[in-house]
Amino acid sequence: MTNVWQIPIPDEARTRLLAEVIATKMAAGVMITLRGDLGAGKTTFSRYLIRTVLGDDTAEVPSPTFTLLQTYETPRFPVRHFDLYRIAGADELDELDFDDAEGAALTLVEWPKCAGDRLGSCRLDIMISETDSDDDGARHVAIAATPEAEFRLARIRAAYDFCCERFNAAALADLRLTYLQGDASTRSYARLHGNDGVQILMDMPRLPDGPVIKDGKTYSEIAHLAEDVGPFVAIASALHETGIAVPSVDAYDADRGLAVIEDFGDLTFGAAIAAGVPQAELWHAALDVLLQLRRTPPPAEITVDGVHHTMPVYDAGVMEAEVALLADWYWPHVNGEPIGAARRDELVAVWAPLIAQVATAPNMAATTSWVLR
Ligand code: ADP
Ligand code: MG
Repeated sequence: MTNVWQIPIPDEARTRLLAEVIATKMAAGVMITLRGDLGAGKTTFSRYLIRTVLGDDTAEVPSPTFTLLQTYETPRFPVRHFDLYRIAGADELDELDFDDAEGAALTLVEWPKCAGDRLGSCRLDIMISETDSDDDGARHVAIAATPEAEFRLARIRAAYDFCCERFNAAALADLRLTYLQGDASTRSYARLHGNDGVQILMDMPRLPDGPVIKDGKTYSEIAHLAEDVGPFVAIASALHETGIAVPSVDAYDADRGLAVIEDFGDLTFGAAIAAGVPQAELWHAALDVLLQLRRTPPPAEITVDGVHHTMPVYDAGVMEAEVALLADWYWPHVNGEPIGAARRDELVAVWAPLIAQVATAPNMAATTSWVLR
C-alpha cells in the first residue's frame, strides 16, 4: 500500500458525497476498514454508504457498537457492518462468522485492529481524522487500497475529483449520487442528483488490452470497441445528427475516462409494457428508429472538439469474432468444458460463407449503414 489518497473534507455533506461515490463502486467481496478516534465519523460514513447501497435515504443504520455486527439485505449484495472495538479474541470473530471466504458480501469494519491478520485481500483502508478540536465538521480522510482494490480506488478517486472540479462548493453540498445498474459493456454508471436536475455519470476507464485472440489483435481491437470516452462522444454526436434521440454529452474528461450525459430515465420497453403501454406502439417506434438510421448513413469521419475519428467498418473480422463468442464463451458456460477444435472449426466453416456474403453484398455494405450492438 504505497499510494495513499489524501482528501480534505470541509463538512459532513462532503463525507456523504465521498461515501456515496464509494458506494456506487462497491461489489461483493470488498472490505472497507475504518480507523479513527471515537466520534471521528466512522459510523456516519458507513451509514451514508449503506443507505446508498440500499437505495434508501432514510434507512435505519444503527451503530454496531453493542451488537458488534449489523447485516443488511440490499438489491445489490448483502452488507455486513462490524464494530470490533469490544472484541476480545479470535474465537469471537469466528462466532460472528467474520471471514467471508466466498466473497459474498460487502464488509465494513470499524476498529479493524482487533481483526489482526484476518482482514480481506480486496480492501480499502480508510482513516478519518478530526482536523480541529471544536467539531466544525472538518475532517481529513486518507484512503489506501490493497493491490486487488487499487483499480477500484483509482475509479473512485477519478469520479470524486471530477465532481469536485465540476461543481462549486454550494452545488457540491447538495450533490447526491445513486447507483445505476450497468449494461453489458465495461462502462458503469451512477445518477448525479444536482441543483439543476439529474444527470448520468458514466465511468469508462481506458482498459488494459485483453489477450490477443487472432492475427495479433485483441477482441476489443477486432470488434472496434471504443477504448476511451473520445469515440463514445464522437458516435453520440454522429447519431444525434441522424435525428434520433441519443443522450447528450454535457461534459467529459477523456483522461479520467468520465462523462456526464443526459438521463433518459428508467422507462424501458419491459417497464412500459408492464405499465400497460400497448406493445404495437413501442415496436412501431422502434422500427421508426431503425428506418431513420438506415436513411442517414454514418459519416466516414467525425471530428469532435478538434479530435479526429475514423468510423471503423463492421467488417468480416468483427463478424467472425462475434460468432466465435458462441463457441468460446457460451459453449463452455452451458457444457462446463471447452468446445474442442473440431466442433469450433465446424461452426466457423458454417458461418464463413454467410459472413463473406454479408461483408460484400452491394446493398448491405456495412460501410453504408449503422450497426448498433
Ligand atoms: P465514530 O463511529 O467514528 O465513533 P460517529 O460516526 O458515530 O463516529 O460520530 C461522528 C459524529 O461527527 C456524528 O455526530 C457526525 O454527525 C459528526 N460529523 C461532523 N462532521 C462530520 C464529517 N465531516 N464526517 C463525519 N461525521 C461528521
Ligand atoms: Mg462508530
